[in-house]
Amino acid sequence: MYAKNIWLDADAAKKEKIHEFGEAYKSFLSYGKTERLVVEEAIEMAEKAGFKPLSEFKELKKGDKVYVTNKGKNFLAAVIGEKSLEEGSRILGAHIDSPRLDIKQNPLYEKGGFAYFETHYYGGIKKYQYTTIPLALHGVVYKKDGTCIKISIGEDPNDPVLGITDLLIHLSAAQMEKPLAKAIEGENLDLTVGNIPQDGEGKHAVKHAVMKLLQDKYGFEEEDFLSSELVAVPAGPARDYGLDASMIAGYGHDDRVCAFTSFQAVLDQGQCEYTTIAVLVDKEEVGSIGATGAQSAWFENVIAEMLALEGKDSNLAVRHAMSNAKMLSSDVSGAVDPLYSSVNEPHNSCYFGKGIVFNKYTGARGKSGCNDAMPEFLAFVRNAMDSNNIHYQTSEIGKVDAGGGGTIAYILGNYNMYVLDAGVPVLSMHSPMEIVSKADVYETYLAYKAFLKA
Ligand code: MN
Ligand code: MN
Repeated sequence: MYAKNIWLDADAAKKEKIHEFGEAYKSFLSYGKTERLVVEEAIEMAEKAGFKPLSEFKELKKGDKVYVTNKGKNFLAAVIGEKSLEEGSRILGAHIDSPRLDIKQNPLYEKGGFAYFETHYYGGIKKYQYTTIPLALHGVVYKKDGTCIKISIGEDPNDPVLGITDLLIHLSAAQMEKPLAKAIEGENLDLTVGNIPQDGEGKHAVKHAVMKLLQDKYGFEEEDFLSSELVAVPAGPARDYGLDASMIAGYGHDDRVCAFTSFQAVLDQGQCEYTTIAVLVDKEEVGSIGATGAQSAWFENVIAEMLALEGKDSNLAVRHAMSNAKMLSSDVSGAVDPLYSSVNEPHNSCYFGKGIVFNKYTGARGKSGCNDAMPEFLAFVRNAMDSNNIHYQTSEIGKVDAGGGGTIAYILGNYNMYVLDAGVPVLSMHSPMEIVSKADVYETYLAYKAFLKA
């Protein structure tokens, strides 16, 4: 069903399902504040659904349910189909990293009686949005002996939170004259972490007190920051949004909402004709590079591994499997915000409540950097949607000259597979409080399921 309002079509039973699914997603999002935490959740959900680590299999046959992780930051779940993986597959690929503030390697310093952590922002943020909001600290600290200390501070209501101060309005005359991009400096996004001096009033008394606290409570020393990965993210759980609770407000919908719906679709759809795969990658917000990004050899390696377990241990089989695959690049789209609608061209934009969004292409200016999906694949996907009464819409990122963006679609497209961008419309994208419609979230899940069996 093209561009029709879901709420108007939904009967009472469907509305109930929409809200139920929203509850499950909220709890997933509330815990999954980092890619590592999402992978932890995914393992638990997969195990509960009867999936087993790929390494435990000696051979693969239809109906087998497998999962694989990579360096704690990637996750893949698959249900083996009736046909060989070489003949094709149905892939849903989403990213599980979101914009945030990374803690620098030498973070801790003291100034004017306060202890601070230096940060370096990750991904595209409007810097001013990160001041004066409660932030939580998550991540890992690796000691030289290989011990991993997990850190999570600020989510429990009894935990303290961290934050970034901003100048009081009364003295902001000069700051208020600056353009938005310059009003808050990246180097000023430092987290306040303490104010009690230790043992007198030395130059580093507050810093020393914070370090002692970290040592006593978490068991690491200042130098261990060198091998840490700590991030500051908006604190607190995802919440219902709107008086009618029709939406969800939360940090990290981009792209955990597509990760959740994609992964859940593979868990629930069961065995299909083709092998169904949900793959969750890292680093999309900074270019999909590195060992855990979509450009990593990891995904291809897993495909090679799976083919070998089917008895097809050849380079050629891998190439066939990759180019016969069909994929939805599961990523969010910027929905029209009626308060800022001048950046959209209304005929080719997406709206809340109208279902999953297909972006034939993303990119910037003259479609620069885009994966331009093939029309025959769009026809294939439309047919899958309409055969299952799925609400869907199509969109561009915005007006031709308004800006642009990208997803992981082109990376898998480079393997010669059919790829189309498909995901949930989002408002206030990349802000500490992104918004999605519960109806779109549920419909996207249904859409992914329909694609998997197409
Ligand atoms: Mn995204
Ligand atoms: Mn993004």
